[in-house]
Amino acid sequence: MKRNKIVAGNWKMNLDFDEAQMLIEDLENLLDEKQPSCEVIICPPFPYLELATDEAAEHELFEVGAQNVSAFDSGAYTGEVSAKMLDSIGVSCCIIGHSERRKYFNEDNATLAQKVNQALKYEIVPIFCVGEVLEEREKGIHFDVIRKQVEEGLFHLDAGDFENVVIAYEPVWAIGTGKTATPAQAQEVHAFIRGLVKEKYGEDLANQLHILYGGSCNAKNATELFAQPDVDGGLIGGASLKAEDFASICEQASN
Ligand code: PEP
Repeated sequence: MKRNKIVAGNWKMNLDFDEAQMLIEDLENLLDEKQPSCEVIICPPFPYLELATDEAAEHELFEVGAQNVSAFDSGAYTGEVSAKMLDSIGVSCCIIGHSERRKYFNEDNATLAQKVNQALKYEIVPIFCVGEVLEEREKGIHFDVIRKQVEEGLFHLDAGDFENVVIAYEPVWAIGTGKTATPAQAQEVHAFIRGLVKEKYGEDLANQLHILYGGSCNAKNATELFAQPDVDGGLIGGASLKAEDFASICEQASN
């Protein structure tokens, strides 16, 4: 089964408003010129989401994702942003369980499962991140770690909900380090994840699941990574802040 590719840019906590506006404008010009056939998503910080969704609605060149969402529906949760709020401004997907949130904000699999539920309740596609730290890979326990993250974060879903989920494999040792997983390493884990999904939900759902690779993916290495049969695109951090690089990655995901 041929899956269309997805390229999502995670801006993290970068750029001020003017810079965000400029990046969106540059990106629009490049995407308009290159017309990549992959699905393009940008995930700016919360204060710039509405700017991005307005542009997305006007030009239809990309979709907009958030980088986080509350595990709660609404009410007295100071500082939180709900899935309903995101939905109300046209956000269509959300990164959930990024390793930086797991590490710095102690988000565990149980909390992440609630966030996934919230997103799905408002028809927001969760881009659910999994991945091992260096020590776990060196000990050879990375498959166990990833299995646990996938099972505890996602496998409570019924098939109807699961079909709206995207998974991103992001080896933590490759994020922001310039050290990319080799295409073979990425393929091995992606195939493992698809195998887990096949066991749980069956072949059809496994075959339609998008699994993105993230971790120092850039304009120089994207083609090789995206050529792997189970790599369905990328979640891009640093390189998504440079319009030329991000547009080039999108182009490479379109072949
Ligand atoms: C990320 O944070 O999701 C990521 C993949 O970062 P980078 O591309 O900078 O490694």
